Amino acid sequence: MSRGATAKRIKDGTYTPLPVWLTNQSWYQNFDFIFHYHYPHISTEDPMKIAFTESPEKGMADIQTQMKLTRYLTKYLPPGVLTNEDIEAIGGRFLAQFDPESVVLLTKPEDIAAAYIGTAKQCDRSGRHSYGGLVSCMTYHTEYFNLPVHPVSVYGDHGQGIDGTGLVVWYACHSTNKPDAPRNVVARSIVGGLGTDSPYYIRIYAESTQLEHAFAARLKELGYQRRRHLQDAKLAAILVPNSRSDYVMPYVDGDVQRVNLKRASEATGLPAHFVVTDYGEHTVGRINGSIFAGDEDEDEDEEETFYCPHCEEDSPAEGSRDVVVRFTPSDFRTVLRTWCASCVENDTFRCEATDLVCDIDVGYRDVRSDPAGDDSITVAEPHADRIAFLCGRTDQWYHRANFNAIAVRVSADCTEVWCAEVNTEHFTRHPYTGEYVSNDFTDYDPQKHGGVTLVAGGTANTAVVTLTGIGYTITNTAVSQENTL
Ligand SMILES: [Zn+2]
Repeated sequence: MSRGATAKRIKDGTYTPLPVWLTNQSWYQNFDFIFHYHYPHISTEDPMKIAFTESPEKGMADIQTQMKLTRYLTKYLPPGVLTNEDIEAIGGRFLAQFDPESVVLLTKPEDIAAAYIGTAKQCDRSGRHSYGGLVSCMTYHTEYFNLPVHPVSVYGDHGQGIDGTGLVVWYACHSTNKPDAPRNVVARSIVGGLGTDSPYYIRIYAESTQLEHAFAARLKELGYQRRRHLQDAKLAAILVPNSRSDYVMPYVDGDVQRVNLKRASEATGLPAHFVVTDYGEHTVGRINGSIFAGDEDEDEDEEETFYCPHCEEDSPAEGSRDVVVRFTPSDFRTVLRTWCASCVENDTFRCEATDLVCDIDVGYRDVRSDPAGDDSITVAEPHADRIAFLCGRTDQWYHRANFNAIAVRVSADCTEVWCAEVNTEHFTRHPYTGEYVSNDFTDYDPQKHGGVTLVAGGTANTAVVTLTGIGYTITNTAVSQENTL
């Protein structure tokens, strides 16, 4: 079987391609010409491994080589492209997709908080392992919120009847080299209805669309139904120290973002707690980690005002909210300011990738997110740089989870990043060098531009070719017509 046939099997679905989060990484793109010759895909015999065509001879004989992804990358990538740690991390992510046993329900509040904070650590370090999906307004360290516990600690089992919610997480596999290393969370969702006949999940955060679908399927297997809100869920009422009426409260996922405070009751035997309900008094769509839940008469003492730093006026507290005025570029933390309702209304936008409400001056980009349609989402500019890419041909932004960025040679000394899916008619993959070449670049010379050197001429029926940089030599008579110089 020729490589073309392998490619066809990947295209027609017989073979599962490698996940997009892997193939859209820049090193993968840079060495695409190696992968082009191998057509690596997920092994049909063992999904924990990949399979590929090792050589043209084996390809002709339809022999696919099975290998662990980590071993494959170590063997075929030139040294120095990735560190051993990088390769381990990539291997862990890859395995996580096919290890349903690493989906775990957490109900201890401190475990739930740790899972969120773990995500924050992962994303803050260098951005390298971050693909956007898991960054949200709650993935910060506890100190960031200036609270005694992390806001998401209101979920989980608090005893005394305050239970029923939790967090289901999908951990990446342990690194085989470092079994004690902290495990990365690759997908998560708050769940409710625990201990009842109908447990449910709310909203999935995942590192990629594939993981999101796989996670949804796994949640279904585990008996969770999809629900749009946490209606009737009980959340712990944790008073902020030195406050009479401020309570710890995260941004609550789902369509119902209101709660009522239920005082401790002898009749029910329940301690003070919050109930999520669509006619609730207090909104829980705030991202600073707490809410004010005072009694009605306490509220009426005075009409609350505060100094709004945006309009620089004393403004009603009602309707005010925290707005991201800046992202720090080094670690992508947010700088928040509380703005009055009218400033929020007039000068902010909501980043649809993070759910953060941002100052219009932060800037935003329209990122195309759906290959099937024209849908685009509004994404804060600093975040767009992390989850999307700018196509040099269409001048539009595309979400990395759903579109592939490829390097296309547009002239003798220039390549551009293009979106593969929307430009299919405008480039051709050179059959010989594997390079993507713009159809407008008609003077393309594979010997000059494709990293290919002819080291011996051969005869009419044989050619000896070395692809520089990968040490891959074709010396045979089996080079097909299309591959002959
Ligand atoms: Zn204002």
